[in-house]
Amino acid sequence: MATATLIDLRKGRGAPPGGGPPQDDEPVTLYEKRKQIYPKLVSGPFRTIKWVLLFGSLGIYYLLPFLRWDRGPGAPDQAVLADFSAGRFYAFGLEIWPQEVYYITGLLILAAVGLFLVTALFGRVWCGYFCPQTVWTDLFIVVERFFEGDRNARMKLDKAPWSFNKLWRKGAKHAVWLLVSFATGGAFVLYWHDARSLAETFFTGEAPMTAYAFAGILTLTTYALAGTMREQVCTYMCPWPRIQAALIDRKTLAVTYRAERGEPRAPHKKGDTWDGRGDCIDCTQCVTVCPMGIDIRNGPQLECIQCALCIDACNGVMKKVGRPAGLIAYDTDENEALRHAGKPSKPFRPLRSRTVLYAGVFALTGSIMVFGLATRSSIELSALKDRALPFVRLASGDIRNAYTIKVVNKQHVQRDVALSVEGLPGATFELIGAGDNAMANHLVAEPDAVDTYRLLVTAPASALASDTTSINVTLSDAGETLATASTRFLGPER
Ligand code: SF4
Ligand code: SF4
Repeated sequence: MATATLIDLRKGRGAPPGGGPPQDDEPVTLYEKRKQIYPKLVSGPFRTIKWVLLFGSLGIYYLLPFLRWDRGPGAPDQAVLADFSAGRFYAFGLEIWPQEVYYITGLLILAAVGLFLVTALFGRVWCGYFCPQTVWTDLFIVVERFFEGDRNARMKLDKAPWSFNKLWRKGAKHAVWLLVSFATGGAFVLYWHDARSLAETFFTGEAPMTAYAFAGILTLTTYALAGTMREQVCTYMCPWPRIQAALIDRKTLAVTYRAERGEPRAPHKKGDTWDGRGDCIDCTQCVTVCPMGIDIRNGPQLECIQCALCIDACNGVMKKVGRPAGLIAYDTDENEALRHAGKPSKPFRPLRSRTVLYAGVFALTGSIMVFGLATRSSIELSALKDRALPFVRLASGDIRNAYTIKVVNKQHVQRDVALSVEGLPGATFELIGAGDNAMANHLVAEPDAVDTYRLLVTAPASALASDTTSINVTLSDAGETLATASTRFLGPER
């Protein structure tokens, strides 16, 4: 890696206190070697919340493909399935067809706006609690702790020369990491195929090649990102820390070290006075539990994923030394500035212009989607006019137009429906490909399928008031209109 005498702006290294160009002669490398982080296990309410979310979300991810959902005969019974071969996405009672991809778009908009809202309110809670990188890294650290012990034992083991003890512990850790990675990649492909049959054929070599390819890619990326790269993904690879800076303001909650209470920091012995000093006893417990290896006492930092484990650590320390909890706590920049100015803090205000805006967009998008789903038709119709030949004049003098009709039956049962053409007095029509029905105005829509027909509409030339007449093609069942498609009937110029 090339070196350069440039300032590492992120760390401010090479710069004198107070900023400015570097004063020392030491060349500063742009590449910083990764320092191994050994996060210590901590207990407390935030750690408990993270355990619940960790095992809850992983349990859902690994087991959901095996959950069944009865959709009737002939339909897949997997609760959540993205069936590419059939062009369907199933999520419990919901079935999305390719032509309804706007529902997926709506879901993505909801997810994005929801994330904006949560970030504007509580900062990087996504990073700290829900992001797959955080969740899987946490899981990999659990495995690491199981085989190598907590922080001090892991540091000792890493420094120790290679021995049988070190070899088997490291080997077992990596083996379990690989197993977890494979389970992660394997679970991913189960969402794209019938999970039970894929789970059976995967190990006999009969599964589709794409399943092996994606399981392999996800296995390797999980192992690399959660096992070896960890905090580097958040700090260097992920764009979200940069984006979220635009979504927060001075009233957003963030994990904050209350410097005005903690400083001046100094070690404290039992019985020593607390007068003339801060509450921070410089025990560095907040640093040792941090999965990002940073010191929250240095103020807001790009690396901080807001996991709040330093709050748990510091509250434990405060309890032991008999000081109030909350030296590190969720707080706002506004309150920090107020306290520095000797003024009282303000209560957290969730209602602000940006949060109201995000909530409004979220509610509007959600309402449109709910309305669309609630009023969604189970049968759809489209009528596409032939473009090559605008119209044909028959020997009788009548005018004929041809159309391609598509009938989408989203139900899992066959449906016998009537077809009619409206808007053209005296017109007759012929439906080609609709079977032997004598009236030729009925069609049988196959279950869970798209059927294509030719429709020939013939009208007396005298019935045409202009060269273009709007007509409606309608599907109905026992008098109830199921679907209508609007199109045009063309004739000679008038
Ligand atoms: S855990 Fe609390 S008391 Fe200990 S160093 Fe961190 S801020 Fe100071
Ligand atoms: S500083 Fe605290 S909140 Fe930030 S990543 Fe470290 S432990 Fe988590």
